[in-house]
Amino acid sequence: MSSAAEPGSARDADVLVLGASFAGIEVVYQLHRMLGDRPPRIVVVDREREHGYLPLQQERLVGVLPPAQSCLHSAAYIESLPRARFVQGEIEGLSLDDRAVVLTDGRRVTARTIVVALGSELAPPPALPGASRLFAHKRREQFEALQAALGERLGGSGEPVPVVVVGGGISGVELAAELAAQGGRPDRRAPRVTLVGSEPRLVPNLRPNIAARVARILAAAGVDVRTSTRVTAIEDDDVELEAAGVRERVPCAIAMWAGGLRPAPVLARLGLPTTAAGWLSVGPTLQCFARSTPTHPWLFACGDAVRIVGGAGEWPTMQRAIECLWQAKVVARNLVTLLAAAEGDPVPPLRPHRLRTGFAYGVSLGHRALVLWGRLCVDLPRINRWFRRWLMRQYFARYEPLPPPPSPR
Ligand SMILES: Cc1cc2nc3c(=O)[nH]c(=O)nc-3n(C[C@H](O)[C@H](O)[C@H](O)COP(=O)(O)OP(=O)(O)OC[C@H]3O[C@@H](n4cnc5c(N)ncnc54)[C@H](O)[C@@H]3O)c2cc1C
Repeated sequence: MSSAAEPGSARDADVLVLGASFAGIEVVYQLHRMLGDRPPRIVVVDREREHGYLPLQQERLVGVLPPAQSCLHSAAYIESLPRARFVQGEIEGLSLDDRAVVLTDGRRVTARTIVVALGSELAPPPALPGASRLFAHKRREQFEALQAALGERLGGSGEPVPVVVVGGGISGVELAAELAAQGGRPDRRAPRVTLVGSEPRLVPNLRPNIAARVARILAAAGVDVRTSTRVTAIEDDDVELEAAGVRERVPCAIAMWAGGLRPAPVLARLGLPTTAAGWLSVGPTLQCFARSTPTHPWLFACGDAVRIVGGAGEWPTMQRAIECLWQAKVVARNLVTLLAAAEGDPVPPLRPHRLRTGFAYGVSLGHRALVLWGRLCVDLPRINRWFRRWLMRQYFARYEPLPPPPSPR
């Protein structure tokens, strides 16, 4: 792709952003906001041109929220910005010596600075017997496969269909509640939902009284909640559960994985330092080398893909959309500082990220939804549902494509 380089410029871009989901697109938005009057040359690479809105993924999945109306048109936004370009493709790896990304089809893009925002994956441990029978719902093809399976097996009338959701965190709880709420639809057979969590309580990252409240709401909606329980095998028509050393088989027409995120597979191929769990290890300035003097000061990473290592060790940052936005803003500021310096100059002082804890949580529970802030728990079903959709619309409005510039007379 070096043919894309501007005359007099050795590289294809000033900033190359890998990944156009929450973190990547916000880096682009912030750069444009900060440097709109003299925009840098930006290239963004992602395998997808659009992104479903993950915080309401369970509603999109069952069709309560039309999937086509809850997609961010990320490529269209990027392509509307001056001097920005979107490249659709599968990333194979990085060539650090010449600051290039390499795509699986052999294309390469070089840049003065690179931001890795390649995120995480929702996938069961491959060693789990029958793992391939578990549906997940993060990536587009996962989402479409599960959507089709639900349409096929829950369509029509008849006996309730047994389904199992694995994962007692917020995503699992939200998915189980949304499925249970399907029982009221005239075009769907009611699913009989079993929710399996390995911890002693649901949503273990929230306060115990909230976990108890969530369990009560789910039980009232007809969900069979199993805590301190592990899934040990998935067969065609049932799953095997184990609790306190006792094994049991539970009928299951569709088994779903919502049991935790893993690093996007490509992260292991980038040749960058990682934590023991495989996340990219970054310093507080979000540069890719967790050392006081980064070897490649032009290389940043942010969002779900990273763990910040500094001071007393790994920071307890959240893998949430809002954390992506905060990190992206820090990265954009640091890019602006770096780009203002000449290439051979010493690295100017860069800003560290600030750890924020205690941000509000929303937990969507079918027809109900809780908003949690510190000790406050607001349970106003209609307002909360409306509020979460309003947040989605605000998010999409942020990345509305710019109108084309007026054509010269
Ligand atoms: C089911 C679910 C529900 C959630 N609900 C909430 C919520 O309610 N509130 C909240 O705050 N957060 C929620 N989250 C978390 C939030 O969605 C993540 O924190 C956020 O998506 C992380 O964004 P990211 O840009 O870092 O990475 P990701 O969203 O993982 O995006 C990574 C991007 O990189 C691209 N990519 C990866 N590998 C390659 C490759 N090899 N080649 C090309 N492109 C590649 C992908 O296509 C993708 O666009 C939820 C997550 C899930 C899965």
